[in-house]
Amino acid sequence: MSRVALEGGNKTGGEKPRLASDHYDGERFFNPSGIPGKNFSDVLRWWWREERTPWPKSVEVPVAPPLPVVLPKGELHVTFIGHATFLLRTSEWSLLTDPHFTERASPMSFAGPKRVRRPAYTLQEIPKVDFVFVSHNHYDHMDIGSLREIQKRFQSEIIVPLKNEVVLNERGLNQVTTLDWWQTIQRGTLKITLTPAEHWSARGLWDRNKALWGGAIIEWGKERIFFAGDTGYGPHFSTIRSRLGQPSLSLLPIGAYEPRWFMKNHHMNPDEAVMAHVDLAAKNSLGMHFGTFQLTNEGLDDPEKDLTKALRDRKVSAEIFRAARFGETMILQSSTTSK
Ligand code: ZN
Ligand code: ZN
Repeated sequence: MSRVALEGGNKTGGEKPRLASDHYDGERFFNPSGIPGKNFSDVLRWWWREERTPWPKSVEVPVAPPLPVVLPKGELHVTFIGHATFLLRTSEWSLLTDPHFTERASPMSFAGPKRVRRPAYTLQEIPKVDFVFVSHNHYDHMDIGSLREIQKRFQSEIIVPLKNEVVLNERGLNQVTTLDWWQTIQRGTLKITLTPAEHWSARGLWDRNKALWGGAIIEWGKERIFFAGDTGYGPHFSTIRSRLGQPSLSLLPIGAYEPRWFMKNHHMNPDEAVMAHVDLAAKNSLGMHFGTFQLTNEGLDDPEKDLTKALRDRKVSAEIFRAARFGETMILQSSTTSK
């Protein structure tokens, strides 16, 4: 645990310099497990020498039913919008994870990974967004265009790992609350704890690992949703279960994993996602972070095929862990059902 964890999160403005911790050296964040970062020659080797399986330019997303404006009391609705974007709603609050509704996951509007699937719901189709959780600053997770639109429409509070407020504030986004790993905030009946992940951060050439990354345990009554963000496989899943409890539902990345020599430290493959599901002892899991942006070498459908194989190999029921369907809503209540 960080030695500098504070209760209640930090509203930005007048942020004090932070002390070093087991994942921060006073200037940059790091993974306590000691996994190495990528060096520039590895990036070039991947870029020049590895073959990418081509993806289609676009894939149809079935039309999803309109989202209800009012939810029944006692239900938590988890809607998959695409990539790492989920809408979590109760009758009391609504929260988006890593909202991405624009065309590209890139610093440039004219180049970089372009979405092949549209978001299953547009922002205009979402009745309300009280909170946003952004797991880290990579372009497929922190999309400034989407965040601006959300804050303009809903004045939502944005919850991020430490130091991500810097880039958000520079872009005119406010109401940002920062959390260190294991730090918790409560907003009415919603409780969010930032959890560790094995990953890294950068938006440009000069900000490598200057902002923290993570996942979140989102609690509401007895329901506990784990949103993993981007992560390699590591011991943190077991630690999260032992410190915060068994999730009712975990949302685990299953895409962006090939080639393994380059991706393994920072992105799980479906087999590792199944291991994470087992470590977490999650009642149910949904695979995410696939089929939207081509970030790595595997084919469009490989994550789902590899997940099916991994579940068979590890004897985990495909009814408990499957890839999320674009636009589906899973409803959690005393018993968990899907429609
Ligand atoms: Zn990332
Ligand atoms: Zn990602």
